[in-house]
Amino acid sequence: MSRHFDLIAIGGGSGGMAVVRRAAEYGMKCAVIEAARLGGTCVNVGCVPKKVMWYAAQMSHALHDAPDYGFDAALTTVDWQQLKAGRDAYVARLNEIYARNLANSAVTMVVGRAAFASKNSVIVNGETISADHIVIACGGRPALPAISGVEHGITSDGFFELTSRPRRVAIVGSGYIAVELAAVLSALGSDVSLLLRRQHLLARFDVMLREALMEQMQDDGIHIATGINLSSVARGEDGVLTLHTHEGHTMEGYDTLIWAIGRESAVDGLNLSAAGLSLNAAGFITVDPFQNSAVDGIYAIGDVTGQAALTPVAIAAGRRLADRLSGAKPDAKLDEKYIPSVVFTHPPVGTVGMTEDEAREQFGDDVKVYQSRFVPMYYALTTGKQHSAMKLVTVGADEKVVGCHIIGDGADEMLQGFAVAIKMGATRADFSNTIAIHPTSAEELVTMR
Ligand code: FAD
Ligand code: NDP
Repeated sequence: MSRHFDLIAIGGGSGGMAVVRRAAEYGMKCAVIEAARLGGTCVNVGCVPKKVMWYAAQMSHALHDAPDYGFDAALTTVDWQQLKAGRDAYVARLNEIYARNLANSAVTMVVGRAAFASKNSVIVNGETISADHIVIACGGRPALPAISGVEHGITSDGFFELTSRPRRVAIVGSGYIAVELAAVLSALGSDVSLLLRRQHLLARFDVMLREALMEQMQDDGIHIATGINLSSVARGEDGVLTLHTHEGHTMEGYDTLIWAIGRESAVDGLNLSAAGLSLNAAGFITVDPFQNSAVDGIYAIGDVTGQAALTPVAIAAGRRLADRLSGAKPDAKLDEKYIPSVVFTHPPVGTVGMTEDEAREQFGDDVKVYQSRFVPMYYALTTGKQHSAMKLVTVGADEKVVGCHIIGDGADEMLQGFAVAIKMGATRADFSNTIAIHPTSAEELVTMR
């Protein structure tokens, strides 16, 4: 049996779903091939279950603060199994909704793992499926260090499989996943050590955010160790983990170890060479600004390209590609400028545009920075305090805002609107001419002097 489509997507995650559904809206005959669960990383082992855990952690923080507001609330412990069951059920509902959406869009769903047979066909479950356009949307998978005993650690995928709360956890890494999981686990009662190979968290973020987050995490009781390069991991007969470092240190007593050192493209078994494709030096599929790969008729979107590994970026790339291939918008392409992003820590971190250092490197003395650090009103009554910090990076005589960086409660919801303004070219005067909303934290961004 063999079938032919106008467009197929390999991978039914954020990018793959977006491209086939949009292309089908234009009347293209589309199929999506998915080896595992619809929705991909984001829905199954990423944004969605992570955000559920973040809400649980928020609740834990609120319960801690509740007595200071006069509530007779006692925080005992979280029922991890109940939390996991609720989260899994929610994800299963989303999987069903995704399947229904595909059917409603008249997209053919093929369950199985695709491998290229040629530049315009793939083999799935023994069937050859051909298409005018093939979109590689295979996503990524967690990277692992090449050290002895690596198998004793889990990754973010394993975190979502945990059936009980870890007692003592070591998390290796300094990026989004390391800090998000550290914050969640700590809030839910685990004893957390964050092991950084260098001195900082979130390397590519503005220095104000990096320092404020590190300070807050330490205040919350997370142990942050810097300059740690693990050389091996051993599990004792009692199941307890011992970590050895290249620097000659030994760290003992962990029941759980989480690797969070980045992600790599998930192209195993895809047989790229049959299509005339290969990975670039960083291990991703190179695309031009229109998502074209090096081979005509083959495109790549999302995490597999090494572009900003964020769900809305994969979705936008997929939709623009469908707009273009259908002929509806022949010049459509992803706009990579001013991509906002939030790290779901406690408090959350929001960022869009250039860091202060990047702006100074590019614009020198033309850069002017406005910043503020304060304790939000919520903490007026609480014994535990969290600071918020905000920074606007502006450039030129008209003080065009090129960067906005926020750490603090509400940063996650605050940033989207400011990202619109910044993308439209707002200046510092536009910000300060906007009447503040009082009393909020967000008003600081339009009143900073
Ligand atoms: P994916 O969503 O990974 O989908 C790829 C799909 O392809 C998978 O379902 C896979 O099974 C399938 N596949 C692979 N190979 C084949 C094959 N040969 N044949 C058939 N199917 C195949 N982003 C955010 O914007 N916000 C967040 O809060 C956020 N949190 C995250 C938390 C975690 C723990 C992680 C790991 C990621 C998070 N991300 C977040 C990133 C986000 O999940 C990814 O950027 C996004 O899922 C990428 O979409 P994609 O379509 O490129 O790939
Ligand atoms: P990140 O790229 O965010 O961070 C990984 C960091 O780990 C590196 O920057 C590096 O930092 C450090 N590292 C690398 N190798 C080692 C090593 N061998 N030992 C110790 N540390 C090491 O990767 P993540 O895995 O956290 O997340 C992958 C991507 O998924 C993110 O970049 C993001 O795009 C996406 N994501 C988005 C989320 C969101 O939107 N909220 C949440 C989760 C993921 P250094 O060089 O400083 O040591």
